[in-house]
Amino acid sequence: AEITLAMIKPDGYYHIGDIIAEIYKAEFRINKMKMVHLTKQQAEEFYAVHYGKPFYNNLVDFMSSGRIVALELSKPDAIQAWRNLIGPTNFEVARREKPNSIRGKFASDGTRNAVHGSDSSENAKIVESNFFFGRNSF
Ligand code: ATP
Repeated sequence: AEITLAMIKPDGYYHIGDIIAEIYKAEFRINKMKMVHLTKQQAEEFYAVHYGKPFYNNLVDFMSSGRIVALELSKPDAIQAWRNLIGPTNFEVARREKPNSIRGKFASDGTRNAVHGSDSSENAKIVESNFFFGRNSF
């Protein structure tokens, strides 16, 4: 089965129970799970690909503002399946077009969209899962 790296972001933290229920309903397996409060530096590192974008500073401040939960999920086609379950990145689109998705239910603005999901298999394993669960991770 494929793996994906999910995060419950600081705003989603208040809905952990609901989000984990959705994960099981959709028949993902939780391989690994970790609750952490990222430092600003760790958030900058995780989101380095977005460095220089207009939303980068807000994103990094937000992601280091409280506790998050990182999860390595597996099931066939996990990356796409998780992205379908979480819904569109933009909270307004998510609410309008996918009201039953996790973001449709819990996202509250452009940055605070409750959850993260890897966008590719390489990213999921080599970069993102390794960031939280690799040998040298915190
Ligand atoms: P994620 O990587 O968190 O799963 P994504 O792949 O759907 O999200 P990206 O385009 O990679 O979206 O953006 C990463 C995160 O940066 C978004 O989830 C959101 O929190 C924030 N973000 C993206 N675009 C904007 C924007 N236009 N305004 C504010 N925040 C944004």
